[in-house]
Amino acid sequence: MGSGARHIFRLCVASLGDLFFPRECLVCGAKLDIGTRHLCPSCADDIPLTYFWSWEGNPAEQRLAGLAHVDSACSLFFYRRDSDYSRLIHQFKYGGDIRLGVWLSRKLAEQMVSCGRFGDVDAVVPVPLHPLKKFKRGFNQSDVIARELASALGARFEPRLIRRRRFTRTQTRAADRRSNMAGAFAVNEKALQRLQAAGMHRILLVDDVLTTGSTIAAAASVLPEDFRLSAATLACVE
Ligand SMILES: [Zn+2]
Repeated sequence: MGSGARHIFRLCVASLGDLFFPRECLVCGAKLDIGTRHLCPSCADDIPLTYFWSWEGNPAEQRLAGLAHVDSACSLFFYRRDSDYSRLIHQFKYGGDIRLGVWLSRKLAEQMVSCGRFGDVDAVVPVPLHPLKKFKRGFNQSDVIARELASALGARFEPRLIRRRRFTRTQTRAADRRSNMAGAFAVNEKALQRLQAAGMHRILLVDDVLTTGSTIAAAASVLPEDFRLSAATLACVE
């Protein structure tokens, strides 16, 4: 099954599940009314939003500034390990709740469209997952987010521009020691040429969580210097 078909299959399974299992708010556990998803109205109102979209020089941009040639960056909400809202990421990523991922991505997309700072993006590129992780998880969470953002921004969804390099065991240990992602990615030359031929050079890099910024920076480092890069993540670790 291709990744598109798998995506649709998962959405169908999720819809069937809703018919048979009553749903609860992921944050406070309250029973959800029919037609309400993921969060009860009160927890939905209290999502710790970052407002980075309307804030030039925001902490995400500051974090990336010294690491990569990324001009603007934003995240939907603050990720705090001890906060119940961290469940949103866990449920999406490890619980395979793609509908939740789509819902959160649309919230982020709405803000990115209305703030106008991301309106000129040509292509949206998810940070690729290591093939083994993707195989185990069945999907790359960044693909889900990037697809929604691309559709809202009227940009091309370009999941093949950057790929993970396959490390040998020794290289993986060396990368661990450096505790960064340097050298983890490579550019797909054909996809790059296609974008360049189409005059597309404004790229939005997408990941699920912004922590130190080293993953986005490593992905950005394989793209040409004359590309204009921005970044978006669902959550930002404070
Ligand atoms: Zn709630």
